[in-house]
Amino acid sequence: MDIVISDGDESFSDKPQHLCKMCGKCCRAISTLYSYEELIELASQGQEEARVFVEIFKRYNSVEEAKAAVPDHVENIINNLRKNNPDLDESKLTFYYCPNLTDDNFCLIYQTRPDCCRRLPHNGWSLLAPDCGFKGWQFQQRERVKASVRKLKEYLAELELLPEDKMLAGRDKTAGEMKKLIKDKIKPWEKYGADYW
Ligand code: SF4
Ligand code: SF4
Repeated sequence: MDIVISDGDESFSDKPQHLCKMCGKCCRAISTLYSYEELIELASQGQEEARVFVEIFKRYNSVEEAKAAVPDHVENIINNLRKNNPDLDESKLTFYYCPNLTDDNFCLIYQTRPDCCRRLPHNGWSLLAPDCGFKGWQFQQRERVKASVRKLKEYLAELELLPEDKMLAGRDKTAGEMKKLIKDKIKPWEKYGADYW
């Protein structure tokens, strides 16, 4: 079997850009896994993506201000964060907006926009606005990944029946080495529930 599943970082060219409705919501309310202070620290340590992020994006003064700008998107982000953290204090969250978005939702720096914009939606699980045009595409991506992971698990189950040092026909690998390779391929998807697929 070919091990072709990606690590979740789909290339930009794979995405059907015509699906974007140009609502601008993803440019008007952005959140990160890191706090603003952590981003500044990462940027000062030379982390390029953090440097570009703090250079381009502007902070809302409060979560309420972000909610007023893009209510459904911000509520959606907060509700999703709450699934993993029921005690979430939303006043501690920081939302950002991009000053490069025009009133009619065009990007003023489209050709040189940062990587985080080029990657969006990162994969089938990226948190998008509730009515984002990529919702159907995301569903397809999720099902594609789930099917690939299931195939890998089936192959893994076959390998479990072999001695660890058994050389696999047509491959320069033992069963043990192949099992490790497959587990590494599945690992990035565990945070999305791969254990149960
Ligand atoms: S939220 Fe979705 S549809 Fe709206 S601008 Fe962003 S990618 Fe396009
Ligand atoms: S740089 Fe362009 S694509 Fe990225 S958030 Fe700003 S307006 Fe949107």
